[in-house]
Formats: sequence, structure tokens, C-alpha cells
Amino acid sequence: MKKYLMGIDVGGTAIKIGQFDLEGILINKWDIPTNKTDCGQHILPEIYEFLDSIVNLDEVKGIGFGVPGPVTNGVIKNGVNLGWDVLDVKGEFLSLLGNKEIIVKVSNDANVAAAGEVFHGAAKGYKNVCLFTIGTGVGGGIIIDGKLVDGYDGVGGEVGHMLVDHNRRFTCNCGKSGCLETVGSATGIVNLGKMYRAIDSSSKLNRYEKLSAKMVFDFAKKGDQAALKAIDEATNYLAYALSLVTLVINPEIFVIGGGVSYAGKFLLDKIESQYYQYVTPFITHAKFALAELGNEAGMYGAAYQVR
Ligand SMILES: [Zn+2]
Repeated sequence: MKKYLMGIDVGGTAIKIGQFDLEGILINKWDIPTNKTDCGQHILPEIYEFLDSIVNLDEVKGIGFGVPGPVTNGVIKNGVNLGWDVLDVKGEFLSLLGNKEIIVKVSNDANVAAAGEVFHGAAKGYKNVCLFTIGTGVGGGIIIDGKLVDGYDGVGGEVGHMLVDHNRRFTCNCGKSGCLETVGSATGIVNLGKMYRAIDSSSKLNRYEKLSAKMVFDFAKKGDQAALKAIDEATNYLAYALSLVTLVINPEIFVIGGGVSYAGKFLLDKIESQYYQYVTPFITHAKFALAELGNEAGMYGAAYQVR
């Protein structure tokens, strides 16, 4: 009898494992450390051994994975955070499972986070969803008709690398410059905060050597002009990127997650008010919501794939 779905979010430092019933109700969850030694070759065998020790695998209907990197057909192409290069995650895990009848699916971690919000979070009940995860970088996940969109090369939903700053002032982790990540992420907010405080000696941001996105938000809320300019500009780029996504897939709802989303309604209001100056006039009532599942979204979404 198949009774369970397993959702596994493989992160660079920890692996989150969730056991769900077939309706998607979380029954149990665990964190195990990510063993990145020997180019990450122990990661999948250790996950298999852990699963085998906590659950009767004959009762598992499916095991879904979220992994950090572009994925197509279960193969991750650039799993550098795990020590992996190109790895057939689905194929390797199926061979670990031997002849057990278990569905295995693998997707990019930002895409599964979007699926998690559909499964049990801010986008529950919606079938066409776009999630922006705004943290150190900007990740994106796209769900169309209830299905995750990985894209042909696995870069579907990689909104963080949309070119939005045409002056290309800051260099991105991807090697290019001007990406949304360089001006719309926590890193981007710090980039802009530093730029605006340098030309405004009255800004309280000048009192600190090191800036964080949270500091820029906190001072913006208090009316500091340099901080406000930084937040207005960052949210302007985010709004612009959301308007472009609207014209491509026209989702029912945008979900904003990641560490920066803890700025809450202040962030959402800034994005929403600027969005309408870019998007087509046909769109007058777009839905925006803050993510609800925090760092468990990936675990939920990983299980969603095999529901
Ligand atoms: Zn980039």
C-alpha cells in the first residue's frame, strides 16, 4: 500500500526531508547535513540510507527532489553548491532504489519552492503562479497549469538574470552585469544603498561601515532619503521584471518570498505601486502575496511533484 510522499530539498549545508501523506499533509520532517566531500558523491547514497531507516520504502509512492541548479529530465547541469557538476540525480536515485516501484522527480530548487507555495502556501488553489525568491540573489519559479516549468535548458524562471539595469553598473554572480540580482536582491539593495549614501552626507546609512538590506529597509521606513531612494529603485526593477513576466505567462498570482520578503507589506506595496506603470493597461488587478512557507517551501514543493 502506497501511503506517503517524500519531499527532499537538497541545500548546500542541509538537506530538508519531509514525509507527507498522499493529500500533502506533513507528517514528519528531518534535517540532515549535506556531505559535500568527494565532489558530493555521498549525498544521494546518504539520503537513500536515511530514508530507508525512517520509512518503509514499499509504502512510498514518490520521492521528489529540489536541487540548486538548472535541471532537465532529472539531470542537474551545474550543481556547484553541492560539489556536483553534471549529475543524473533521477537516474542515480532510481538505481539506489533498485526494483522498488517509486516515482522520482527532480527540479530546480526555486521552481519547487513555487510549487510548495501552490501545494500548501500563499498560492494554494492557483494553477498559474510565479514566485520571486528575493534573498542574496533573486530566484524564480514558474507553475503553468499546475506544472513546474524547468525549460529546455533548465533555466526556465531564472528571473534573477533578466537584464534590467541597462547601465550595467554592478557585476552579477553569473559573470554578466545589469542582472536583476545586482539591483533587486539583498545584495542589490546594499549596492544601491552604498551608491545613494555616497552622494547624501546627511543619510544615516553613512554611520555604518557595513550595510545590510534590512538596515536599508529600516532606515527607509524611518524616512531616510538615501535609503528610500535605494528601496524605490530596487523595487522599481523588481516591478519592471514582474511586468515582463506578466506579458510572457500572465500568472494568476505573484508570490514574493526569500529573506527580503520579511520586509512585508512595505516591500509589497512599493512593488505593486510601481508595477502598474510598466505593465500593459489591460492588467488592472494583479494579485501579489507574500510567501508563507519560508524555508520549508522547497520540501513541500519537492513532494508536490510526485503527488
Ligand atoms: Zn546574472
